[in-house]
Amino acid sequence: MVDDGAVPSAGRPLRIAVIGAGPAGIFTADALTRQQDVPVAVDLVDRLPTPFGLVRHGIAPDHPKMRAIRETLHRSLDQPLVRFVGNVEIGTDLSLDELRRHVDAVVYTYGAALDRRLGIEGEDLPGSLAATDVVAWYCGHPDADRERVEAALAAARSVVVIGVGNVALDVARVLARTAEELEPTDMPQHVLDVLAAAPVQEVTVLGRRGPAQATFTTQELRELDELAGGTVLVDPAELELDPGSAERAATDRTVTRNLAVLREWAGHEVPDGHVPVRLRFFRRPLRLLGADRVTGIEVERTAVDGDGRAIGTGEVEVLPADLVVRSVGYRGLPLPGLPVDERTGTVAHDGVGRVLRDGAVSPGEYVAGWIKRGPTGVVGHNKHDARETVAALLADAADGTLAVHGPVDDLVTTLRERGAEPVLLEDWRAIDAAEVALGASRGRARTTMHEREALLAAVRAAAAG
Ligand code: NAP
Repeated sequence: MVDDGAVPSAGRPLRIAVIGAGPAGIFTADALTRQQDVPVAVDLVDRLPTPFGLVRHGIAPDHPKMRAIRETLHRSLDQPLVRFVGNVEIGTDLSLDELRRHVDAVVYTYGAALDRRLGIEGEDLPGSLAATDVVAWYCGHPDADRERVEAALAAARSVVVIGVGNVALDVARVLARTAEELEPTDMPQHVLDVLAAAPVQEVTVLGRRGPAQATFTTQELRELDELAGGTVLVDPAELELDPGSAERAATDRTVTRNLAVLREWAGHEVPDGHVPVRLRFFRRPLRLLGADRVTGIEVERTAVDGDGRAIGTGEVEVLPADLVVRSVGYRGLPLPGLPVDERTGTVAHDGVGRVLRDGAVSPGEYVAGWIKRGPTGVVGHNKHDARETVAALLADAADGTLAVHGPVDDLVTTLRERGAEPVLLEDWRAIDAAEVALGASRGRARTTMHEREALLAAVRAAAAG
């Protein structure tokens, strides 16, 4: 029997639940298990039966090199002190309070799954999709709204993507790809079929500010010009810089490089049969038009002021569109029992990852990744972020703020007693093998299985035999 408030030991390590098995969660588990100072045991909980979060359901499937980071993340899952516990939703299968009775500390790393809203008329018309929905769909996320996305794509001749971040480029690129280019990817078969049949004739990517304020990065921008059946068009007049933007272009290397790439493209002409992919700037969306589905988008021309803010000029124009994809960022959602700041979509913390409730540090609760710092940065940024949070947690363990509180019930045992079906590492391996086999049957390295039931069936089949 361990006394309340004891120092963690090999016999009774600090038990930590990390909620969200995406990159932030896996880097957190990795940082916790690599150190030698405090004995730990980590349960890495995810609501999906599969690990990797946005590496599986966010990075575009035509980016196989980026998706290869799975191999690195997998090595952390293989650590004996880490237990993957998939297919468990905190707040549904187990309340946060109940979870906390099973562990000494919780680290929230469940990301930012919701789309940010534009707050304009027509936003919810059929034919208007959030980029988060399109990305979830083409990556085979079990919760993707297939019906809505596929209905919109069936009529999508003129596509407008709102926003000039990397997600907007991903969506524009995937929609402009030929069927042959997408064929080798791990997209589910129905996604390949729907994309091959989509009548896309033009794609326009819209920035509300200028090219010097765009948030895409150069490598991702450059790729837009490597389409087999698409050509990027840029209006040279929109590349002329006001003094503030010129200064930004001179001091920020990404902006300098982006502008150099955009200037290379300003003279492009569209070969016969190619889909034009227009990058247009200085246009702010006012409303989506259409009675029962989107037919166009009304935009206002803008200029940027000395601080880089978009200022409306009063000049309004209409761009025809059968599909509008709103790619204006992600936001985090609250967990039942864990408040999220409405404005930022993040969990309040002390600057290094200790959760604040009502302004005070809440003992035993930590946060890392997008739900801590907001939806910015590439996968690698989560490593530093996770290390910062783990350093705070370990400092708390070192000074006794965080201690072990008696023996606790095993999380997986409790979940099973309740009729939940936790998916552990060996179960995930069965899913992994089933996806590889499915891909092989179609001459591909892998095909993503998109139905939760199919994923669980692969687990049950392996367990049976
Ligand atoms: P993001 O980079 O923040 O881009 C959001 C875009 O939406 C910006 O252009 C923003 O313009 C625009 N926007 C916001 N509110 C708007 C409004 N009301 N009207 C019109 N436009 C509006 O976000 P993201 O593209 O979702 O990407 C999220 C993170 O994931 C980023 O850090 C990104 O680099 C990363 N990511 C990386 C890759 C990769 O490395 N290949 C791929 C995908 C995503 P303003 O700047 O004017 O607000």
